[in-house]
Amino acid sequence: MQKVAFIGLGHMGGPMAANLVRAGFTVTAFDLSEEALAQAEAQGCRRAASAQEAVAGVDAVVSMLTTGDVVKGVYLGARGLLQAVDDGTLVVDCSTIAANDARQLVAAANERGLQAIDAPVSGGTAAAGAGTLSFMCGGEKAAVEAARPLLEAMGANVFHAGPAGSGQVAKICNNMLLAIHMIGTAEALQMGVDNGLDPKVLSEIMRASSGGNWSLEKYNPYPGVMEGGPASREYEGGFSVQLMLKDLGLAMDTAAGSASSTPLGALARNLYQLYGADPEHRVLDFSSIQNLFRRPAGD
Ligand code: NAD
Repeated sequence: MQKVAFIGLGHMGGPMAANLVRAGFTVTAFDLSEEALAQAEAQGCRRAASAQEAVAGVDAVVSMLTTGDVVKGVYLGARGLLQAVDDGTLVVDCSTIAANDARQLVAAANERGLQAIDAPVSGGTAAAGAGTLSFMCGGEKAAVEAARPLLEAMGANVFHAGPAGSGQVAKICNNMLLAIHMIGTAEALQMGVDNGLDPKVLSEIMRASSGGNWSLEKYNPYPGVMEGGPASREYEGGFSVQLMLKDLGLAMDTAAGSASSTPLGALARNLYQLYGADPEHRVLDFSSIQNLFRRPAGD
């Protein structure tokens, strides 16, 4: 497998496509955004004028789009990519979408005689750039194995969670937990700062103690603690509040479908809802939930 089409070159897709180029794949890229396309071209991707043009003659299509509706709009229907690709093309959707949407996409691809998997990722933009993402795959084992060389060029871990849609269920469980520990980390750091502690010192202490967690270690929400993280660049880039709200909505739908009790997930969604009511907050990185707890200067 050598030729790959990459659809959706945003915060995550851009660096993922660049890693495929670095690994020796020929990547034809498409995004609705001219800026994203230009960046991908600068990283060695070939530019296509449409998604249909991008998939012509490729061995695999990888997509990193935003929502289930966007993914279904791109792949399904008379003008969808499932109709445009050659026979034998492998379909790998890495977007975080509802498990039922992923199942629908895989079923439609299978009906057309194509192998397809859902392969959402964990790790954030830093891991996308470093090629150390974790892929959580749903689909047939043979399809996951066919996708493995591609996924290993973009990530450090490839997990097969189960049949189609299972990657999305794993991803949504993970992101619900992520939201919960990000909020918990933000409130603990603020309480420490409000009581005179240096957030760097407190972070170091908690990291080495029983409060240690990924948000604290890899994605510290308090400005100035971690160089290069979204908190130290005014929460720009990274994983937006808007996308976290989407994932928490998917988590609540999933919980409702299985009658699971998720009280902390529901609270986390409410807090992000409250914070994200301001449109300026919705585009910031999700670690900016720290702002909900910070006091105005001088208070
Ligand atoms: P993003 O908004 O930065 O990128 C999405 C890209 O898709 C944009 O460049 C947009 O122009 C493009 N796009 C939208 N509709 C299109 C269409 N019809 N055809 C072609 N291109 C189209 O989003 P992102 O942060 O890269 O996230 C992508 C997915 O990955 C989401 O489902 C998100 O939940 C998930 N995710 C994000 C992160 C993160 O840290 N950002 C981490 C893990 C998973």
